[in-house]
Amino acid sequence: MLLLTLVLAAGPMNTKPIEDELVKKFGEAQRVRVERGVRQVAALWRKDDGDLAAFAKDNFLVEPKELDDTFARFEANFEQLDGHLLEIGRELQKPTALDLGPLLKVDPYFAEFDPSAHLIEDLFNTKLGFVVLLNYPLTTLEQRLAAKDWSRAQWAQARLAGRFARRVPAEVQQQITSAQAAADLYIAEYNLWMHHVLSEKGERLFPRGKRLISHWNLRDELKANYADQGGLEKQRTLIKVMERIVTQSIPAAVINNPTVDWNPFANTVVAAAAGTIEDDAPKKVLPPSTKPEPEVRYKKLQANWASQKKADPFSPTAPTAIDRAFSLGAEMPEARVKELLESVLESPLVPQVAAQIEKKTGRKLEPTDLWFNGFLPRGAIAEPELDAKVRAKYPSAQAFAKDIPRILQGLGFPADRAKYLSERILVDPSRGAGHALQAARRGDFPHLRTRVEKEGMNYKGYNIAVHELGHNVEQVFSLYDIDHTLLAGVPNTAFTEAIAFVFQAKDLELLGLGKPDAESERLRVLNDFWMTWEIAGVALVDIEVWHWMYDHPKATPAQLRDATVEISKRTWNKYYAPVLGGKDTPLLGIYSHMISYPMYLFNYPLGHLIAFQIEEQVKKTGKIGPEIERMAKFGAVTPDAWMVNASGEPVSSGPLLRATEAALKK
Ligand SMILES: [Zn+2]
Repeated sequence: MLLLTLVLAAGPMNTKPIEDELVKKFGEAQRVRVERGVRQVAALWRKDDGDLAAFAKDNFLVEPKELDDTFARFEANFEQLDGHLLEIGRELQKPTALDLGPLLKVDPYFAEFDPSAHLIEDLFNTKLGFVVLLNYPLTTLEQRLAAKDWSRAQWAQARLAGRFARRVPAEVQQQITSAQAAADLYIAEYNLWMHHVLSEKGERLFPRGKRLISHWNLRDELKANYADQGGLEKQRTLIKVMERIVTQSIPAAVINNPTVDWNPFANTVVAAAAGTIEDDAPKKVLPPSTKPEPEVRYKKLQANWASQKKADPFSPTAPTAIDRAFSLGAEMPEARVKELLESVLESPLVPQVAAQIEKKTGRKLEPTDLWFNGFLPRGAIAEPELDAKVRAKYPSAQAFAKDIPRILQGLGFPADRAKYLSERILVDPSRGAGHALQAARRGDFPHLRTRVEKEGMNYKGYNIAVHELGHNVEQVFSLYDIDHTLLAGVPNTAFTEAIAFVFQAKDLELLGLGKPDAESERLRVLNDFWMTWEIAGVALVDIEVWHWMYDHPKATPAQLRDATVEISKRTWNKYYAPVLGGKDTPLLGIYSHMISYPMYLFNYPLGHLIAFQIEEQVKKTGKIGPEIERMAKFGAVTPDAWMVNASGEPVSSGPLLRATEAALKK
């Protein structure tokens, strides 16, 4: 019912005469289908699409066989469309993605060319999208979540119709892309030259030339400082820098500028002595001044929101960006996602893990320990030794490809399945770090891109290759062994990442170097728990800020800044201050994703929960191979339906919390 109301509200057209005409033609028994179909079409129909009544009369299908055959035709043709468009993109990107020699000037342009960029619009313009909407039901997230007795064909039909749930006009889409690109660029150039960021006492703590991008490098530097003598003072300085970025009290002149020295505690700025200035300083910089950055951060965020809001009327089943992130993106209701995050944030295990960190650091915890990384074990075998071993084994990408059947058998796949998989995974020498590229039609194959140095593969490359192999295995099963190609894939990226991590954790074992010892396993779990706890709060802030923007459409950027700071502080005081102190720090607002990848952060903590859930299930049976095959063949249903099939339970924080509890007991 909810669905119909939404569609009606969005469609300006009176559809009653068309509905009556179709009911007259096809009979009263078709009334429900007629009303639904016509309203679904009318909600997205534009004047220049032509005569809706004539289209509906010509294309409304009644015969069950014709409906089934038409659905099958869409499924078969979309496999070809998706699969071949993906292949075209892959071929055009080959020179930039693979290590095949020097690039031509045109190669980056080809790499940016996206042959599927206008596919949905073309499908609407040719009326194919409207044929789908006229004959197959759009579903709400509530309906998909309640769909316990749906057949696989019904799931596939829901995916078919779901492709046409939105028809965002090109100019609105263009505004969304531009706002996002502007935010990306702002973040990409947000560097701090650390030699010129002074301690509370005005000392230089960081070496010349160190340039850190907010927030990723600032956070990673903070983590690296745990291994350092005197690291705490650097960490406190980094925290102060982050706080000033969130509150926008950071002077505009110190952003990406090594010609001024900044004390973030006193917030003073002076010209840097000539001898301290790096040679590669940017050409255009501001003169020394304490004038704050004029809310640019929040202007970019607000511009992202404003552009997304323009797409709201063209997305009748998910009419806000928040709805789209949860019901179309994650396919989990917001309330449930929040509940999962809170179950980690409020877990009684938090103070127990904190006590272990206090023991390791030998001091009272403080805000910097939000990013404690001292749980990560140092490997028992030194990296150069591992490099030598891997290099000898894999002098080329082909050598790794040849070894895939053995690796897969090492992961518990029977010989015939290992052979089947290895025949469907193509290995390429990668220019970058390595990645897995899916295929989208049967007959085409997933690619494993792996980096091999001149002297052979090193350990880091091998570790990544085993991770990517996990993606490829999932990609083969969820395309070749699935009953409906409209259901190919996984519910979202967290699921394929989780499978890849299960593979990656076995890398040393697969080299014949034995299982990881119990202590490093214990530390890995505590580290993952702490990372989940950290990002869960950040995600809550992101969600609440988006609600605030929708609730305050006329707010100024300064008001958005104040609200973000207030939400960050409140979230910190509720969950983090009792453990880490630092009452009223706005630290949680620092993530750059908030500005340039809006409404995405909550996927990270969910990813950790899903990874632990898959891992726990695989451990129960002790056989990675057959379990992964069984899970991956289920395809892109909702996360909860996928997880019920995989582990008997919907997505839950139980496995992470159980593993953490066990790690604390050891
Ligand atoms: Zn991955």
